[in-house]
Amino acid sequence: MVLAQLGGSISRALQQMSNATIIDEKVLNDCLNEITRALLQSDVQFKLVRDMQTNIKKIVNLDDLAAGHNKRKIIQQAIFNELCKILDPGKPSFTPKKGKTSVVMFVGLQGSGKTTTCTKYAYYHQKKGWKPALVCADTFRAGAFDQLKQNATKAKIPFYGSYTESDPVRIAMEGVERFKNENCDLIIVDTSGRHKQEAALFEEMRQVSEATKPDLVIFVMDSSIGQAAFDQAQAFKQSVAVGAVIVTKMDGHAKGGGALSAVAATKSPVIFIGTGEHMDEFEVFDVKPFVSRLLGMGDWSGFMDKIQEVVPMDQQPELLQKLSEGNFTLRIMYEQFQNILKMGPMGQVFSMLPGFSSELMPKGSEKESQAKLKRYMTMMDSMTNEELDSSNPKLMNESRIMRIARGSGRRIREVMEMMEEYKRLAKIWSKMKGLKIPKKGEMSALSRNMNA
Ligand code: GDP
Repeated sequence: MVLAQLGGSISRALQQMSNATIIDEKVLNDCLNEITRALLQSDVQFKLVRDMQTNIKKIVNLDDLAAGHNKRKIIQQAIFNELCKILDPGKPSFTPKKGKTSVVMFVGLQGSGKTTTCTKYAYYHQKKGWKPALVCADTFRAGAFDQLKQNATKAKIPFYGSYTESDPVRIAMEGVERFKNENCDLIIVDTSGRHKQEAALFEEMRQVSEATKPDLVIFVMDSSIGQAAFDQAQAFKQSVAVGAVIVTKMDGHAKGGGALSAVAATKSPVIFIGTGEHMDEFEVFDVKPFVSRLLGMGDWSGFMDKIQEVVPMDQQPELLQKLSEGNFTLRIMYEQFQNILKMGPMGQVFSMLPGFSSELMPKGSEKESQAKLKRYMTMMDSMTNEELDSSNPKLMNESRIMRIARGSGRRIREVMEMMEEYKRLAKIWSKMKGLKIPKKGEMSALSRNMNA
């Protein structure tokens, strides 16, 4: 996705600033201009970008910063905070509660992925123990009911709709009523989308909303709509009480920056993103990890959560202690590979662990990646304790490498490749040096530290 390019451009701009010996007004301006350009090219609305630039300049007053302050860190933190601010409207959206009936209405233009997303949303909650149901109140598009029916049947989710009734308000009301009686706790109403923002669409939407009294209205937006995102989102917000946004097709070539604009326009958070046509290509959206990744900082908060999930409880304090001392040894790498192989869906875990995602684990090649990890582990099995516990790659001289290759039945080239991988990861993970080991519930404070 093109957002990765945006991330690349922003982190390059930050890197250039880091390379400068003195950080003065010019260096700061160059950096901000570079970031502005990158954001605009990614279809973030002009006004948002301008405001962000002004805010950063207000926060980072170079004259007031006494010598000794780490200006680079302060600037990076300000950029991080401002991007988070754009994406985080400050209030969470309504979240349905298990066992208590909630009605959630989906709105959006035709083709935005609304119907697909309704099912993904239902399926996601079903897996987590909800009892969802789908109501097709789209009587405008021929085939809409069939599509919903097909998806719902596949996911074994009850559905309601009609081939003959043409009044969407009536269908919506009947469907909601039926599923309330059947004790479904998450009733999802799909509404009509039109090609463009027609008055009739908005009026119909308003009526369905009035009749079903949804607890939450979700605006579905195709990430490829570009600069039109802000106006489109705002038009919807003006007609119904949009409370959350889902951005679809983030897997494609879309620039994705429209997501930031949609949040600003609706003052509602993005809660999920769609990353493919399939039912489970749907991810919870979290602002801080997203921005961290965008800025090339690695997703430290997600990472800490994952450490808690992936690493057995009794190993956690020791691992954090070692990382805080800056000792990313081959043994740590070995143990992480081991933990990860036990975890199941590799892609998901890897996308969280800094450094592991794109290079070691390209998307769609999980089997190969798994085989690679196992191969690396066989080679590490031929290492001595001294080698495994050292964080000094220089220890690995030619004769050691030859011995490891012989011992594991691998080529010298492969051992060297593994060492390169280790060095790459060690470099990324060395950012953990000096980390304060968090107590329970202090994860977010930690992620702030790491992002600083
Ligand atoms: P609606 O008219 O808004 O209800 O849109 P649909 O749900 O019919 O989706 C339109 C097209 O977009 C379909 O071909 C979907 O498979 C596709 N689609 C929906 N969400 C995603 C997504 O996250 N990624 C990709 N690649 N395609 C999607």
